[in-house]
Amino acid sequence: MDVNLHWHNHTLLEQTATSLTKNGFGVTLLETRAEALAFLLQQAAAAESIGFGGSMTLAELGLIEALAASGKRLLVHGQAGLSPVERRQVMQEQLDCDLFITSSNAVTLKGHLVNIDATGNRVCAMAFGPREVLVVVGVNKVTSDIESALRRIKERVAPANARRLGFATPCAETGRCSDCQSPQRICRITTIIERAPRASHLHICLVNEHLGY
Ligand code: SF4
Repeated sequence: MDVNLHWHNHTLLEQTATSLTKNGFGVTLLETRAEALAFLLQQAAAAESIGFGGSMTLAELGLIEALAASGKRLLVHGQAGLSPVERRQVMQEQLDCDLFITSSNAVTLKGHLVNIDATGNRVCAMAFGPREVLVVVGVNKVTSDIESALRRIKERVAPANARRLGFATPCAETGRCSDCQSPQRICRITTIIERAPRASHLHICLVNEHLGY
């Protein structure tokens, strides 16, 4: 990466980290995805059950594969072969696990986490339930404010997710949000976590690399 861009991004993450800390979140700033994976594995060491939010960031890190032989109970609702009933059961167990690991669709410079879910399991677990929550965020997900975070999700994240999941939404075809009435609409639950939730331990790992989308 260009050295100037690297330091520009580092400064951006430092500013975000300061805001997140002020808002009551735990924060760790990491420079590379390798450092991020090592940090997550270290944090996961004491957990017996670990839930995962659907996340391209975690997929890119290879976190679930890295934990596969750990002997821990890994709660992966997206794994192949689950029936709808089993999938729902895994999502419910995620709400009561030792550690829930996910990404956030966006983090603002003012230290707010912004997300849009279709099912809600991910945003629920982020706010309440698991004993610990780790949120991994690449520098590409930092936005200036809540408005630009929502715009980022509607213009970039949702269309990409709809395409990846094979959903027949207008944005999957056009790349633009039309606030659709599609039965497969993925934008159903919007959350903005402004301060660390009162009864949860949320720790944000900011990574100075492009992760997920
Ligand atoms: S509201 Fe519909 S068109 Fe807009 S981003 Fe969400 S799924 Fe796509």
